[in-house]
Amino acid sequence: MGKMNQEVILKVKNLVTAFDTEEGRIRAVENVSFEVKKGQTMGIVGESGCGKSVTALSIMRLLPKPTGMIESGQILFHDNDIATLPAEKMHEIRGYGISMIFQEPMTALNPVHKIGRQLGEVFQLHFPKMNDKEIREKSVEMLQKVGIPEPVQRMDEYQHQISGGMRQRVMIAMALAGEPDILIADEPTTALDVTIQAQILKLMEALQRETGMAIIFITHALGVIAEICDDVLVMYAGTVAEKAPVVELFKDPKHPYTRDLLSSIPRLEGKRKTRLNVIRGMVPSLYELPAGCRYQNRCPYAMQGCEIESPPLKSVGEKHFAGCFLM
Ligand code: SF4
Repeated sequence: MGKMNQEVILKVKNLVTAFDTEEGRIRAVENVSFEVKKGQTMGIVGESGCGKSVTALSIMRLLPKPTGMIESGQILFHDNDIATLPAEKMHEIRGYGISMIFQEPMTALNPVHKIGRQLGEVFQLHFPKMNDKEIREKSVEMLQKVGIPEPVQRMDEYQHQISGGMRQRVMIAMALAGEPDILIADEPTTALDVTIQAQILKLMEALQRETGMAIIFITHALGVIAEICDDVLVMYAGTVAEKAPVVELFKDPKHPYTRDLLSSIPRLEGKRKTRLNVIRGMVPSLYELPAGCRYQNRCPYAMQGCEIESPPLKSVGEKHFAGCFLM
């Protein structure tokens, strides 16, 4: 997306996020590091269970309690380390600094309040000086911005009266009302049809241009990443497999997993949608992670040594890193 300011506003350093389960402690995110720049979009891609949503929930400090925890590492936002911030301070950051759009808007909207009231509450919280009339005007304007037809009428409706696509737009409106520095979007469009998906992505881009917010876009779809991201983090089984500017990643993918992912993107050929390749094998369970490289059971290049140590991320080009012993 934007190429404006290169200022780093979020720095995740060696993040380890763990869950206590009946079968012991598992690490869903292990040693993940990345930076997010103002006005730019960072994509986090990987199959389900790779740790991308847990990374997002760690940044928001919304891990399920008491089982989930940030075990070590830092999440630096302005002068704060989110990993260790007191709960009240974190509440503030979730309001003003970092907002998140979840996969399932049904669960995030309150069913008993009208849409206008829920959106109004966000404005009220962020702009305490606004009066009721201004809040209502701002809310209508925001609904209009996210492409909701007849916004004045929608203000007085409840979530069950509008479609899934509209609910997702209301969620985006609420996430943006506080003018966050960072918007985290976790598969925000997967439940929507293709046309609406495209509209929502366009809308996020437009708002980013307008406000300079950074976006962390989480998805399993590399196609979407190609369209909207500046930088990409490829995650596999809780670790970073590869990290690169988006053009570089598509032009010269280094990690065997990234290459496999790229060759499994469904393409439109003629009128038929074909899936070229399916990556063989399964993602290892977090309960039974292999020693060494986590991709070894699926990797066509696995060699002696891959099962002993885990490969560190190595620089393989300008701002391009991959964690594989082939590098
Ligand atoms: Fe494959 Fe070994 Fe590289 Fe892992 S470290 S991706 S198993 S070659």
